[in-house]
Amino acid sequence: MPDTPLTIRMHERDNVAIVANDGGLAAGSVLPSGLVLRDRVPQGHKVALADIAADGPVLRYGIPIGYALKDIAAGSWVHERLLQMPDARGLEGLPLATVKPPPLPPLEGYTFQGYRNADGSVGTRNILAITQTVQCVAGVTDFAVQRIKAELLPRFPNVDDVVALEHGYGCGVAIEAPDAPVPIRTLRNISLNPNFGGEVMVVSLGCEKLQPERLLPPGTFAIVDERNVSDVGDNAEEALDVVRLQDEAHVGFMSMVESILRQAEVHLERLNARQRETVPASELVVGVQCGGSDAFSGVTANPAVGFCTDLLVRAGASVMFSETTEVRDGIDQLTSRATTPEVAERMIEEMAWYDAYLKRGSVDRSANTTPGNKAGGLSNIVEKAMGSIVKSGSAPISNVLSPGEKLKAKGLTYAATPASDFICGTLQLAAGMNLHVFTTGRGTPYGLAAVPVIKVATRSDLARRWHDLMDLNAGAIADGTASIEDVGWQLFHLMLDVASGRKKTWAEHWKLHNQLVLFNPAPVT
Ligand code: CA
Repeated sequence: MPDTPLTIRMHERDNVAIVANDGGLAAGSVLPSGLVLRDRVPQGHKVALADIAADGPVLRYGIPIGYALKDIAAGSWVHERLLQMPDARGLEGLPLATVKPPPLPPLEGYTFQGYRNADGSVGTRNILAITQTVQCVAGVTDFAVQRIKAELLPRFPNVDDVVALEHGYGCGVAIEAPDAPVPIRTLRNISLNPNFGGEVMVVSLGCEKLQPERLLPPGTFAIVDERNVSDVGDNAEEALDVVRLQDEAHVGFMSMVESILRQAEVHLERLNARQRETVPASELVVGVQCGGSDAFSGVTANPAVGFCTDLLVRAGASVMFSETTEVRDGIDQLTSRATTPEVAERMIEEMAWYDAYLKRGSVDRSANTTPGNKAGGLSNIVEKAMGSIVKSGSAPISNVLSPGEKLKAKGLTYAATPASDFICGTLQLAAGMNLHVFTTGRGTPYGLAAVPVIKVATRSDLARRWHDLMDLNAGAIADGTASIEDVGWQLFHLMLDVASGRKKTWAEHWKLHNQLVLFNPAPVT
């Protein structure tokens, strides 16, 4: 980072810019334009480039992120206490599929080494997942998983890991509520994530509301291969492998654990026989999200991810962007980028559902921003959303998913999820994500057990301090030592290396795994 004062303006209409220098800039600093700072402005925070009259718009990304509560002189620090946040754009009269960008040229010849599944999907890791119908079995399953790792896994060197899909659902819930399908299909679709090789193994208690047959009805899961079919007969129902702890056959805790180990061994043998093969980059299913955002998120890391999103779409891959409260303020940009009016209408449906969901809780999208966001220079959700939405790049949006649904189409998808890091990640896993990209400015050690998470730092200072947690530094863009395109390409190549297993992410290296957190908009009992 040079010592000369450095500010970044995102759009020619903007009357504020953010300070890029590590440690911010002191009052009296002189910008290259000759403007003298009237206040100390922390790194990532906004400085007024011109006088802004009371009630006048404060423009960043070329749009009003707020209105001045009083006169703001040029050179002043523009913090959130000086801004009145604009209301959210209504959902009526939006532009539907009006932007028709010229088609992006195909990107051919890129491949990775993946595990091809019977249903056509491709895994980037080879993991035994143990599905659970209810939280009651979590302790027993965890005990069994520790023994599987110690006693069985060394015999199956081709299997990367054993993961218990622990969650808080399954009993004490209103399972017939209109919104109950959200958590149920999330759990079902996570069990079918491409990184689990189509091997479905369930641990159930016995008396719970979410019975195994309801979680995974026959026909909803793939039978791994012909060998498997001949093992279990032609009846798909028999292929659902369930250990029920309350079965009378179990006498004592150890007999439950032995049952789980016995079943796990069958699945481990099949998983161990799988081999990586060369597959086109189009088999990547990438979920992008951000967390612990700062004002650089929308300047460095998210634009680089957006550039990479375009590369992936050009390569024929699937990319999901999510985090409804963080894109709600850019709804008109999104509906206009939809490939068809129908896709735009689906997006509006999801936003309307979420507006109503928040209203039920007597809040709106402004509940999103955190103290850390504000300390990092993001005044409000409008400013945060403009920086978040750029992760979606510029490709047309061709598909929309409701929370917990499984992705069936390639291209760019808006997968509606909350912005909460763990809930968004959990829902993107259910959608079939085989690689996760996560940008952060404040810093979070986020990781998931089921997929590699590539973490991208928005600032060089964070990348330096968290050198063994951050996988890529997009701060080089603010430092002026790399372009958005450079970092976007770096990310693309890193994705292919990580997907192939040639590289591990830091979260994998340290085994930093956050819990699955289900989105359950339905009541509990
Ligand atoms: Ca998030």
